[in-house]
Parts: sequence; structure tokens; C-alpha cells
Amino acid sequence: MNLFIDKANCCGCEACANVCAKSAISMKEDEYGYKYPKIDPEKCVNCGLCIKVCAFQNIAEVNKPQSVYVATSRNKQQIQKSASGGIFAAIATYVISKGGIVYGAYLSVKNGVFNVEHIGVEKKEDICKIQGSKYVQSAINQCFSNVRKQLKSGRLVLFSGTPCQCAGLKAFLQKKYSNLIIIDIICHGVPNLTLFNKYIQYNFPTEFSYSSFLFRDKSKGWGLSAKLCYDSGKSKNIPAGTSSYYSLFLDSQIYRESCYKCKYASQHRPGDITIGDYWGIQKEHPELLKSGKYILKDGVSCIIINTVEGEKLIKNLDEYIIYDKSSYDKVARRNAQLIAPSKKGKFHDTILNIFKFEGYRGVEYFFRQHYKRQIIIHFMFSRLPFGIKEIIRNIIH
Ligand SMILES: Cc1cc2nc3c(=O)[nH]c(=O)nc-3n(C[C@H](O)[C@H](O)[C@H](O)COP(=O)(O)OP(=O)(O)OC[C@H]3O[C@@H](n4cnc5c(N)ncnc54)[C@H](O)[C@@H]3O)c2cc1C
Ligand code: SF4
Ligand code: SF4
Ligand code: SF4
Repeated sequence: MNLFIDKANCCGCEACANVCAKSAISMKEDEYGYKYPKIDPEKCVNCGLCIKVCAFQNIAEVNKPQSVYVATSRNKQQIQKSASGGIFAAIATYVISKGGIVYGAYLSVKNGVFNVEHIGVEKKEDICKIQGSKYVQSAINQCFSNVRKQLKSGRLVLFSGTPCQCAGLKAFLQKKYSNLIIIDIICHGVPNLTLFNKYIQYNFPTEFSYSSFLFRDKSKGWGLSAKLCYDSGKSKNIPAGTSSYYSLFLDSQIYRESCYKCKYASQHRPGDITIGDYWGIQKEHPELLKSGKYILKDGVSCIIINTVEGEKLIKNLDEYIIYDKSSYDKVARRNAQLIAPSKKGKFHDTILNIFKFEGYRGVEYFFRQHYKRQIIIHFMFSRLPFGIKEIIRNIIH
């Protein structure tokens, strides 16, 4: 039994591992740290179910965008803790208020080692655990099986994740449930957890233990800036352009092979709704910013409604979100992954081989050699006030 021939054909959604009644499939890291399913031939009975539920290889998405909005949460605290406009947290609050359970990516740290995995939360005060973007592939573990149990018991479930995880869940379930809401995020690709941990350990060796890592810290406004937090309460700001991991991520150099052939980087999305950053809102909807309804510095989201269920959902959200009509073309203008997959960076293979043979030290050295100009510019840029940065960004775009 062969699950895939080419690595580019496996997005690592774990649907196959969840569906196997014989527990014959486990996720194993390759030499670069990306996880792929491996079948134990001793346990496998050749039933073929794992192949059937492989959405990435065998199932086409047919949804089409029904409507598109600019949006933010009505709750300022939610916006502050979120990558964009806090739409995810607002919808999660609605679902939990209806007695539902919400699944999303959770970042934890133990003994200086970070982990990113999907979990389900049932209390409003726990939503913060799954808020915010984690630019690492999140492990699904047993979540799909748990979602099915909860759906069968009649519970309302919100599942959120990358489009391939959402498609994986749908394929695993093999039938539609009226009590399931699926939110996919606009996604340009995922690196792996091992690479991220090695980046942290190499660049921030410390006797203090880490308590958290915010990939989208908003203390200096909406944008791409990270923060490493320590148990002591101290923290370190990390501008994206000066960080090797973040820069190589944004530059499409370290994604999983499947991301460069992602079939969900299109109008055909697996979620009932798609959420993302409304990059370019200044140009597409200056009137909404001028009116003061949306605040650029806080962050603004886009919502794409893909299904009838998504349309129904948004009608129930007036209490939780502010939203205005926009269009797919406007959102996609600065979010190319709504039209086509990310293009593989020219250093991708070189960087992964350096990582394999020299460890993160080699990757950091490579970055410092090849991104010198960027590091200096971004270091200086990161010191500017948010308003000046916005003017410069607008001129560039
Ligand atoms: C790897 C990755 C790539 C992205 N690429 C883009 C992009 O190119 N363009 C764009 O507009 N937006 C992108 N996003 C989405 C964006 O960063 C925000 O997550 C999105 O706008 C939702 O923001 P929010 O404020 O509503 O909610 P937030 O609270 O910021 O986001 C939480 C949501 O993100 C999900 N999530 C976070 N990390 C992961 C993860 N590792 N795996 C799966 N799900 C995760 C949570 O489950 C939850 O649904 C990306 C996110 C990730 C994780
Ligand atoms: S179901 Fe998901 S993890 Fe399994 S082979 Fe297919 S893409 Fe890979
Ligand atoms: S063929 Fe059946 S038993 Fe074998 S790994 Fe796939 S799902 Fe499991
Ligand atoms: S780019 Fe596509 S394949 Fe890669 S993580 Fe995102 S949805 Fe999955």
C-alpha cells in the first residue's frame, strides 16, 4: 500500500492516519523535519480506506466564492490578540455561546521546545489559546476522530485550519453534517516544527525558559513582527525581515513540497468561509478607513463566503463582527495565494540540504550572507513609527 509517490502529493493533513481502524499509520519526520504518513505493513489489512480519504490527491473542491467582506471583530481585545481583525475569535465566541466546541492551532512550550497542534476548546476564556497565526505546520493528531464523535452526538463544531486540513477533515468524515462549520485560512505555505525549534534554540540560547512565541505581535501595529516571551516576563521583539526563519518563510523558501502545488490556492476553497488579512485595504477601501469604522493599526480581516452554510453563519454574527461588502478581486490583489500556489524560492533545496548536513547554524549563516541588504533595511524600518511605515509601504506597492 503506497499512500503517495511524490512528496508534493502529500500535504500532511493526517486524514489517512485518523481513518485507519488498525492504527497502522503514523506520522514520521523526513530528513528535513516535514512529517509524512508511514504505514506499518504488519498492521495494515489493505482495506484501501486511507487512499480513499486522501483529499489532496483524490478529491476536487467545487465551492465558489458567494460574497466577500472587509471585517473585524467588535471586541478590541480579540483584535489585539489576533493576527488580523480577530474574525476567528469572534466566530469562535458565537459558536461557544451556542454550546459548541472550536478546533484550532495551539502553540505550547515545554523545556524550551515548542509544539504546535490542533486542540478543541469549549470555554470562551480558552479561545485565546487558538488565536493568532503560528507559521509552522500544526499536528492534527486525533482531532478528526474527536470531531466526528462530537458531530455524531449532535454538538455544534467549528473546525479551523489550513485549507488542506479542512479538506482532510471533510474527506475523513465522508458525509456532510449540518452541525459542522469549517473555516479555512488564506495560506501561502507551512514550514515544519523542527526547523522552527532549531531556529529558536540557535538564535536565542538562554538560561531563561521561553513561555511563548507570538508570530504576529501587534504591540507596534498590524504587520509582520514577532515576539519571543520568557518565563521571567521579559520579551524580545523580532522584526520579520531580520529573522532568518521568518524571512525564509515569507520568501517561500522553506515550505512543505505540497505547498508549491497547493490545489486550494484558488477560488475553490474547502471552508464554509475563508479568512485572511485584508492586505491592501488602504488602496481597495480608503473610504472605510477614513470613516473610522476600521483601524489600520489594529488589523483588518477579509472574509470570503464559500457556501450556503457560510452565508447563514454570517447573518448570525451582527453582534460579534463589523463587516462591509468587498470583492474577491480586491482581496486577491495583495493575496496572490487566492489565485495560485506560492512559487518555490530559488534557495529552497539548498537551504534544506544545509539544514540536513550542517544544522540551523548553517541556515543562519546562509541567510546572513544572502539577505544582508534586507536585514539592514528591515532593522531600520522596524524602528519607524507605524504611520511612517504605512506611507513607505504604500509608495512601494
Ligand atoms: C501558515 C499560515 C499562512 C498564512 N498565510 C496567509 C496569507 O498568505 N495571507 C493571508 O491573508 N493570511 C494568511 N494567513 C492567515 C492569517 O495570518 C490569519 O490567521 C487570518 O487572517 C485569521 O486572522 P484572525 O485575526 O481572524 O484570527 P487569528 O486568531 O489570528 O487566527 C487564528 C486562526 O488561525 C488558525 N491557525 C493559526 N496557526 C495555524 C496553523 N499553523 N495551522 C493551521 N491553522 C492555524 C487557527 O486555527 C485559527 O483558525 C496564514 C496563516 C497561517 C497559519
Ligand atoms: S490523507 Fe493527508 S497525510 Fe495522508 S497521504 Fe493524503 S495528504 Fe498525506
Ligand atoms: S489500507 Fe486500511 S489498514 Fe492499511 S493503512 Fe490504509 S486504512 Fe489502514
Ligand atoms: S499551502 Fe496548501 S498544502 Fe500548504 S499548508 Fe497551506 S493549504 Fe496546505
